[in-house]
Amino acid sequence: MHKRTVVVTGASSGIGLATAQRFASAGDQVVNFDLRPPAGDGCAGEWVEVDVTDWAAVAAAVDRVAETYGTVDVAIANAGISLRRTFLEMTEKDVRALLDINLMGVIALWQAAARHMVAARSGVLLATASTNGTAGYPYYADYNASKAAVLALARTLALELSPHVRTACVSPGYVMTPMQRAEYTDEMLAEVNARIPAGRHADPAEIAEAFHFLASPQARFITGQQLIVDGGELAGGTASS
Ligand code: NAD
Repeated sequence: MHKRTVVVTGASSGIGLATAQRFASAGDQVVNFDLRPPAGDGCAGEWVEVDVTDWAAVAAAVDRVAETYGTVDVAIANAGISLRRTFLEMTEKDVRALLDINLMGVIALWQAAARHMVAARSGVLLATASTNGTAGYPYYADYNASKAAVLALARTLALELSPHVRTACVSPGYVMTPMQRAEYTDEMLAEVNARIPAGRHADPAEIAEAFHFLASPQARFITGQQLIVDGGELAGGTASS
């Protein structure tokens, strides 16, 4: 396979970092759009300081990637935040801030990348949705709505951009990342693990594999869909917080 150009947002940590490393290890050119530099031993590839809520900055950064590397083959909208609180505790300010990253950030990246992909008649738009986009989980109403919206976007763009540009989402269940560690106590983590058929959280590398597959030619007949990677959590039809 030729060396592809892969843009990943939020690749300085967690799922994005593992995904960037997965593509880079396969020989692809990875460009990470994140607010902060990569954690730990870093993300192979280039880091560009981009706030995904800045629509014009995202478009300019994507254009620069296309100019530098010739194409944008894969665009992965992964940057996201979650805030655990009840529906009644939500404020206009924090709901708008969440939607700005989790929904507007995806639209901004996908539109900027799609302009190049449509012109090139080739490309794959991917995003990190969540099992929360399909099942209800208490205390994450705005987050759940943002992830359901991303699934809807993928379906819509599959209709608008086929056959040359594909779309798909990876919907992880519980993944052990800094985001997850920050929100759950050890007791909460143990309680969650007991309810997952696999008995544990996913490793970010296991989510990265799903992205790598969806971006590959082997997934060429998959568009508009989500790949749920949840250790069996939704198999029984019941989710929990
Ligand atoms: P994380 O906090 O470890 O990483 C998120 C990255 O996004 C960080 O590097 C952060 O700097 C970056 N980011 C945040 N706001 C940004 C902005 N405005 N512009 C650019 N970059 C920004 O989180 P994670 O757990 O790896 O989550 C990644 C994605 O996976 C999110 O969309 C999240 O909703 C989704 N997800 C996570 C889990 C889980 O259990 N961890 C489960 C399902 C879905």
